[in-house]
Amino acid sequence: MLKVLRVTSCAQCAVYWDEAEPARCRNGDHQHRVHETHLHLSPVVLPGGTQLTAASFDPAGPYSRAREPDYGLYLDRRWRPPWDHGYIDWPDFGVPADSQAAAKALKDLLERARSGQHTEVGCLGGHGRTGTALACLAVLAGHPATGAVAWVRSSYCPEAVETPGQEAFITALFST
Ligand SMILES: [Zn+2]
Ligand SMILES: [Zn+2]
Repeated sequence: MLKVLRVTSCAQCAVYWDEAEPARCRNGDHQHRVHETHLHLSPVVLPGGTQLTAASFDPAGPYSRAREPDYGLYLDRRWRPPWDHGYIDWPDFGVPADSQAAAKALKDLLERARSGQHTEVGCLGGHGRTGTALACLAVLAGHPATGAVAWVRSSYCPEAVETPGQEAFITALFST
């Protein structure tokens, strides 16, 4: 069962905020849009059977879990979990500037998951960056790069991978 987070955005100010934050725009003349986004804390089984958890950042309680992971790899610095973790520098709606460092961090995460560690990967919304990372992990686990986006959309969430640039990143990462 997927929880949902309500996010409000102001186009004029180019800001957005979630229901746990104070409004970042209080100008009554501005047009505000509310949309709902998934709060993922979803188990994902990679090709070959390795399992990990994909997480959205839940501002109301980001670190409450039935079971804490042994290790988390986060794609946004808003994460400050009490458990062992690492980061990939990865702008929202973008791709990592350092693709080699990203590939190394993803391989490390996969090794940890394969060795039986309880692992987690997360960004903020859990779709663009997390979806792209999951597609890359699927390729590392043996899925062909072609079709990795379709794989993550059917195995995790239909909204996974948000931009053509993120799609191209998955292919480019494995073409060298
Ligand atoms: Zn505004
Ligand atoms: Zn989703």
